[in-house]
Parts: sequence; structure tokens; C-alpha cells
Amino acid sequence: MSNEENKRTPKKFLGILFDCCGVYGRIYQNKDGTAYTGRCPKCMRPVSVKIGEGGTGQRFFRGR
Ligand SMILES: [Zn+2]
Repeated sequence: MSNEENKRTPKKFLGILFDCCGVYGRIYQNKDGTAYTGRCPKCMRPVSVKIGEGGTGQRFFRGR
């Protein structure tokens, strides 16, 4: 009966290297928990990384 617990769940993020600009940044899990999505901080290019079963094993991904 505590809805507050859901609200408090921290957003998961993934560190990623944006190949387009050679910069590191963070992308965040979408609300369905199926992928991490975000944009390159420099050129605003959208990037998404799918989350497999049990989550991703890798810490860093390269944006392509
Ligand atoms: Zn970029």
C-alpha cells in the first residue's frame, strides 16, 4: 500500500561514449525499461541502447 516506493525508484542510466563527437555522456532508461535513450550533449544526435534479458552486462556503449 505504499505508492511512494515507486516514485522513489532512481532512474537508471548508462554511461556512453558518443562516437560522433568523442564525448562521454549519460543516457537514461525509458519508462518501459526496454532501452536506454538519450542524446549526444554536443550535437544532440539521438542514441538508444536496447536492454536485454537481465539488463545489460556492459557498462559502456558506443553510440553509432
Ligand atoms: Zn555528437
